[in-house]
Amino acid sequence: MRAEIISVGTELLLGQIANTDAQFISRELAAIGIGTYYHTVVGDNWDRVVDAIAKADERCDVVIMTGGLGPTDDDLTKEALCHYLGLEMVRHQKSYDSLIKRFGSLNKPMSENNLKQVLFPECATVLDNDFGTAPGMLYEREDGKIFAALPGPPFELCPMFTNYALPILRAKTGKVLKSNVLRIYGIGESSAEMLVKDILREQTNPTVAPLLGNGDITFRITAMADNDEEAERLIAPVRRSLYERLGQYIYGEDDDTPEKVLVRELIAKGLTIATAESCSGGLIASRITDVSGSSAVFNEGFVTYANEAKMKHLGVKKETLDEFGAVSEQTAREMVTGLIAATGSDVAVAVTGIAGPTGGTPQKPVGLVYVGVAVRDDHGIRVNVTKNNFIGPRDKIKFNTATTAIINALKMINGKL
Ligand code: ATP
Ligand code: MG
Repeated sequence: MRAEIISVGTELLLGQIANTDAQFISRELAAIGIGTYYHTVVGDNWDRVVDAIAKADERCDVVIMTGGLGPTDDDLTKEALCHYLGLEMVRHQKSYDSLIKRFGSLNKPMSENNLKQVLFPECATVLDNDFGTAPGMLYEREDGKIFAALPGPPFELCPMFTNYALPILRAKTGKVLKSNVLRIYGIGESSAEMLVKDILREQTNPTVAPLLGNGDITFRITAMADNDEEAERLIAPVRRSLYERLGQYIYGEDDDTPEKVLVRELIAKGLTIATAESCSGGLIASRITDVSGSSAVFNEGFVTYANEAKMKHLGVKKETLDEFGAVSEQTAREMVTGLIAATGSDVAVAVTGIAGPTGGTPQKPVGLVYVGVAVRDDHGIRVNVTKNNFIGPRDKIKFNTATTAIINALKMINGKL
């Protein structure tokens, strides 16, 4: 199928805004195997818009229009499209009701011209606008050609296109789209990309897209095929190559989070865990207990913020705190071994650091965090303490501290640390 995107808007022709809508739609269409053959930009002028539609109709199977769906007189896209297609427009009741409701909840009077936004041909599919007032439309003519009109503002267009137009177009292509997400932690985005640069460059089907998440990185492998099995067959070798290059950093897949994987592994191994947190203030315990089923593995957690608390609950020695300070490898070590003794858990996690933005010194800057993990088994207690230098605001340092603690615990119980 060949697609043409007609972006309507004099602002585009004047160079006041870039045509990011067309860029977005083209990329999304490519991912489902529809090639975009033309990008047309036309001003808010009835004759030229109709002319552009006629040209697109001659040379393409899918015509997607953007912009000009609003309430004002210069918004003429839908009217021009329906005129060209010979379709009469009537009030679309569901859109009318939500328009009235929207204005009602805003406590604003609605001017008459807003009503043109809810006029649609009866035979068209109306695409809900979850972030604005003008719904979009999609119409399939008897010859199978598809015509769509979408709003201009990207925050309205993007979700509308992805959620409501794309599924219809995908069904037309008869292809299935399957994704597999690999989740990575402990390596910077650029370093990760460097390690797989050739894989990223070579791929067309499946495609591999890196995405930066909440302190972690994901690689999404997406294949398009005639059926599920075929898509999985295409994904498998690419997935294997990514594991070969980045395996030590991959902690999970698809909907996994570090805490979900940790809880799953603890349950599988029949282990319990306890936490002692200074700079993360309870976030590790909170994230672990966000996971349903964590009660089977999570014993107890301490927020040992003050030195006294570290001594009282974990048995950290006063001399250690005096000599090395609360933020030190020695303190982290005593916290985590003391936690095992205090709780009898199989796995203990303890963190101590400086979340900032104040409290840093040249020797111990903001973001310096020691993460300790101890695992007790038949042979005794294994302890690991890592020194980390996180950057960013306080909440990010706390979040990364928690993620690192969870990932390190995971690695320890899997014998990878
Ligand atoms: P509204 O209801 O806000 O009038 P509309 O569907 O009528 O929306 P336009 O009036 O054409 O759309 O454009 C509204 C705004 O949307 C523009 O000012 C611009 O910020 C953005 N916009 C429009 N077209 C594009 C485009 N092709 N690419 C990126 N942004 C666009
Ligand atoms: Mg407008």
